[in-house]
Amino acid sequence: MTEAFVYLDYAASTPVDPRVRDRMREAGEMTCANPSSTHAAGRLTHGIIATAAAQLAGLLNAGPRTLVWTSGATESDNLAIAGGARYRNHRGRHIVTMKTEHKAVTDVFEQLAKEGFDVSWVEPDGNGILDPAAFEAVLREDTQLASIMLVNNETGVIQDIEALGGICRERGILFHVDAAQAAGKVHVDLSTLPVDLMSVTAHKFYGPQGIGALYIADRPGCHVDPILFGGGQQRRIRPGTLPMELIAGFGMAAEIAAHRIDDDLEHLRALREALWGGIRDLGGIRRNGDPDGFPGILNVSAAGVEGESLLLALEPLQVATGSACNSKSREPSSVLRALGLSDTDAQSAIRFSLGRPTTAGEARFAADRYRQAVLKLRGLAPGAGV
Ligand SMILES: *Cc1c(COP(=O)(O)O)cnc(C)c1O
Repeated sequence: MTEAFVYLDYAASTPVDPRVRDRMREAGEMTCANPSSTHAAGRLTHGIIATAAAQLAGLLNAGPRTLVWTSGATESDNLAIAGGARYRNHRGRHIVTMKTEHKAVTDVFEQLAKEGFDVSWVEPDGNGILDPAAFEAVLREDTQLASIMLVNNETGVIQDIEALGGICRERGILFHVDAAQAAGKVHVDLSTLPVDLMSVTAHKFYGPQGIGALYIADRPGCHVDPILFGGGQQRRIRPGTLPMELIAGFGMAAEIAAHRIDDDLEHLRALREALWGGIRDLGGIRRNGDPDGFPGILNVSAAGVEGESLLLALEPLQVATGSACNSKSREPSSVLRALGLSDTDAQSAIRFSLGRPTTAGEARFAADRYRQAVLKLRGLAPGAGV
């Protein structure tokens, strides 16, 4: 008998909501219906995009003219950081980020360092939280851009964007936030948050893959140089033909999320409680990150077991090791290392990420599987049915 896989990797990607699929089909049929009339097709296209922009702006409480469509958060991060740093080159060449950021941020900073920018990497505390005072301590006269994520993709840690952004605003530093794990999952209010640039992506909250956006605040001096060149679309900030169906689906995912965030959070809190409650008393278990972080993620290390063997023993659970995007490299997660974990603790880390479709039964099943796998690998339960 083959057991069905239990998908607990919603931080990597979420399944597309059926209403999103319907909306995408509808948008596709609408735009194909008028292939001969450029003007009619143009109006339809314009309407579909305007609707989606209003839906996404509604989710983030932003003005619709602040959004630039991209291919996802990777591109948004690149555009914000490389484009922002180059735009403000005259102001200075010092830029700041954290060691616990996603690769789509850290690799851009590495690239900018090669181009002559001076990068400071601030460190979080043992729970993964950045102390605003530690952040402020590295800022200089010539600091021109900082990038700090909202919800961490490996640990769920939430940064104090209001405090960090406030510090940047006082000093005229362009402030970018990677909100790929936050948008559609926790409340984000850009009408009050002191944020200049924010990256979001549809496939982390039940929208399609391959579509994202960059929010660019409508404030003087808040701008980015393009990183792509071509047509005149999107005020030349990001040229290229817009993918209508993906944008329509993104908008629908945003509208659905806006109505569900509180219910989703309550659901995830209950699930994470059940999962953690089922494994916490195993002994030698370390919970990585801040317990008050985003409830869709639980990251745990088990003393005396090795990550890859654990992952194998955990089948049929679809979970990630601490470093989902680096899992081929066998390097311990740099995010967890930055929290002060030893190589062995970082290597044994498993990220469970829960989603809207996750059931209480799946959470209990995951806890049982994890217990059995850890006990077996520690050699304490010979013959355990793993
Ligand atoms: C998924 C993710 C990205 C990359 O998003 P894509 O849309 O897949 O390019 C960037 N940052 C964070 C924090 C993410 O979780």
